[in-house]
Amino acid sequence: MASSKRSLSFRESVDHMVDRALKFLNLDEGVSNAIKACNCVLKVQFPVKIRGELQVFTGWRAVHSTHRLPAKGGIRFAPMVNQDEIEALAALMTYKCAIVDVPFGGSKGGLLIDPQQYTRDELQLITRRFTVELVRKGFLSPATNVPAPDMGTGQREMAWMADTYKHLYPEDINYTACVTGKPVGHGGIRGRTEATGRGVQYALQEFFRHADSVRKANLAPGLGGQRIIVQGFGNVGYHAAKFLSEEDDARIIAIIDRAGVVWDENGLNIEDLQQYKLQHKSIKGYPNARFDENGQAAMEMACDILIPAALEAQITADNAPRIQARLIAEAANGPVTFEADEYLRNKGVVILPDAYVNAGGVIVSYFEWIRNLSHIRFGRIQRRFDEQRGHHISTALQELTGNQLSEHLHTKLTVGADELALVRSGLDDTMREAFQNIKAIYDANEHIQDYRMAAYVTAVEKISRTYLDLGVY
Ligand code: NAD
Repeated sequence: MASSKRSLSFRESVDHMVDRALKFLNLDEGVSNAIKACNCVLKVQFPVKIRGELQVFTGWRAVHSTHRLPAKGGIRFAPMVNQDEIEALAALMTYKCAIVDVPFGGSKGGLLIDPQQYTRDELQLITRRFTVELVRKGFLSPATNVPAPDMGTGQREMAWMADTYKHLYPEDINYTACVTGKPVGHGGIRGRTEATGRGVQYALQEFFRHADSVRKANLAPGLGGQRIIVQGFGNVGYHAAKFLSEEDDARIIAIIDRAGVVWDENGLNIEDLQQYKLQHKSIKGYPNARFDENGQAAMEMACDILIPAALEAQITADNAPRIQARLIAEAANGPVTFEADEYLRNKGVVILPDAYVNAGGVIVSYFEWIRNLSHIRFGRIQRRFDEQRGHHISTALQELTGNQLSEHLHTKLTVGADELALVRSGLDDTMREAFQNIKAIYDANEHIQDYRMAAYVTAVEKISRTYLDLGVY
């Protein structure tokens, strides 16, 4: 349950956070307002016959900015979605793309639905009908507006959307680029499903490469051994927890989900928990750790790093004073409200902001979109060539030194990168660079008080420069 004390709406919360950067940059008020304004919002209501009865569904697609096209952002299927939330999320997409140098505008969509109440076939019918509404009204196409998965949606829904678009525009040779996050067999890219969680891992890895940042957060050096709590065990939370525990030796001491919390001070086996969840549709009853139904209280347990990866407004003025984490990595969108952000900043808790931390999804979506437009998978042309060259280098080294290369080194030298390796490499590079840019701004200005403000300063600088270049003002 989200905490009840929340005086600002989600959109106001995002705007207030951006205002700190706008004020620092001393931008003209009109320009500031232009940057913050949501360009347009589509609201649709459409009927679908479900089990013999007509049901009317409500959905939104907000376009926050079009300074770059297409506008990009996920579509969520959730029982509590509303227009304010979609506008806030669309704005976050604008800033996120600017922070990580992905050349897209910001958009977001939502459908008011509890997917668990519908069968697969019913969901397909509803998704296809929603897609027709979006396409017909100009809110979905490879050139102008490209959705992706978000809460309650995944590869399956993206495949239905792409197929619906294809039927409406069979002559559009780039039809697969109308959505990202598709299954690989339908134009998707390897590494997209894991991308946001993988990006969270890369963000934390980069943070821990900077000793001064780690010291400021009062953390011990190195990701290994850090005690981490993850809220949300869906796409983002599962992948982040899995990679951090399996590859960085971090200790995931608690996983909080809709059903409650499972915890073990010695660290959870994430893959084991995932298999249990897949089988039992819930983490409740998992036999290899302790369980409690009060998931919200578990956010306040002692830990080093807290990763909220579920939904917005989870850390509010209400519970912020009881949060014990020293570092919060915002994997969800908007998990910390403006008021809580202010409180935690003053208390010295370091927050890595959502618009940076969860950008992995849109970064790999960008790769997928390029792959779709170029109609060729990454690595297809050069992979074997690279392998051959590696063999030549290996042979040359052995001839020149007279020594046999170790099996390990030989394999490393002679492997040609496949699509997954290239996607991960591109994602890692982008996450590292973005953090370094944010950190440079943070370190260089005493008036910039935190990473969020620094991230928004970089974003707003880039967006306002684009507007200036285009002569918009
Ligand atoms: P998901 O639907 O796969 O998973 C959401 C998880 O949160 C589920 O495990 C659900 O049980 C849990 N949850 C829901 N309500 C909860 C509550 N009250 N307390 C605790 N847990 C709760 O969604 P996702 O794709 O993992 O997205 C999670 C967050 O990450 C969202 O804020 C989303 O906007 C953001 N995000 C997702 C992506 C992406 O690529 N999927 C990209 C960027 C940002």
